[in-house]
Amino acid sequence: MKLAIALLHLCFLAAASNAQNRPLVIVVVIDGFRPDSISNQVTPNLFRLKQEGVWGDNGHSVFPTVTRVNASSISTGTVPAVHGIVSNTMYVEGVDSKPFDTSNYKNLLKLAEISNGRTLAVKTMAEALQEADVPFVAISSGSSGGGFLTNPMAPSGIGVLINGGFEDGHRAAFPDKVDREIQRRFGIVKSGEGSPSLLWAERVLREYVLPELHPRVIIDWLTEPDDTQHRFGVGSPEALAVLKTMDQQVGLLVAKLREMNLENTSDIIVTADHGFGGEPDSVDLNGAIQATGKATDIIAANNGASTLLYAKGHNPETIRGLVSQLQKTDGVDLIFTTSQQPRIAALPAKQRPELMPTRGTAPLSRPKIKKASVFNPATDCTSTSPGRPPPPSVKKTSGIFCSSTISNSRSFL
Ligand SMILES: [Zn+2]
Repeated sequence: MKLAIALLHLCFLAAASNAQNRPLVIVVVIDGFRPDSISNQVTPNLFRLKQEGVWGDNGHSVFPTVTRVNASSISTGTVPAVHGIVSNTMYVEGVDSKPFDTSNYKNLLKLAEISNGRTLAVKTMAEALQEADVPFVAISSGSSGGGFLTNPMAPSGIGVLINGGFEDGHRAAFPDKVDREIQRRFGIVKSGEGSPSLLWAERVLREYVLPELHPRVIIDWLTEPDDTQHRFGVGSPEALAVLKTMDQQVGLLVAKLREMNLENTSDIIVTADHGFGGEPDSVDLNGAIQATGKATDIIAANNGASTLLYAKGHNPETIRGLVSQLQKTDGVDLIFTTSQQPRIAALPAKQRPELMPTRGTAPLSRPKIKKASVFNPATDCTSTSPGRPPPPSVKKTSGIFCSSTISNSRSFL
């Protein structure tokens, strides 16, 4: 999991208001891409877009800054408390008896089965565009789950979704007609393969999606440099090489638009689901859970830099005991508890004068919290507020979320 530096940068290739041609908007999402990775030497195509386009300084990821959470925010325009995907690994009774990995789209289908047919709780961009009769394609070289979240209603006939990981690599797209055509012409490179997956998806985009499906809105999700940076580190020779590979694909996309005379009616919005920092220090989470004496009432869904903790039966005593132990545990920086159960945050700030400023409790779903005596919401807990820069403390913190329920883990949202 990545402890991420939030970023969002926008490069508008050209204003798209020409009445004679239908405008095209392409949202290029580069997984794990840091804004300071852009340079004329390594990423000349993105460098040129940055120079010639519009740059946004203060955009940032939603917290926790992990892939599938931010994929869901990109496809819905909402924060995790609204769309419902709160981490890469999460627990929902009825999906599995243990925390499940959202990178596998089959788990997300199960989630939809028990959630009125919806993986994401709110309307997606694909659905809104369908209502407006605007053709939409989401294409991803990331995991099947990450790709799925860019258009989770595609199996129901909403828009187009392309990813090489469906049905264990035997389906490339929804709907069936698009799937058959892609397999016939391009075969399938199973998602999760890093650069090979990326090259396959971008070729499908250039040679089939753009000239034949004629979408007006596209999400183009590039799975690198995230995977390589996890394996070799930011700035490693391997990471720099894959940045070049990724950037070449962006250059080929721009060239294709030019070839199709779409350059002046297309906007390219370049962004990332998150940036990339170092790996977090290890935290003895199991020790803290065992020390509560109620380990059997607690489920932990570990996401590396952040962990979701589910307390059975909304039990305030369990939550209080757990938070108390976590506050004594090295490496734990931020603790969020529900604002609903118990009614106030698990630990009233005034009763915990020993709390350090970065060790507080706050309602998860309400960024504007009021326990400023130990926890300044303006600087410490606004990472779920869209449109604001990330507080410095978020860059190097671990986040712990204490849920109030084990029977319906989504209710704590
Ligand atoms: Zn990611």
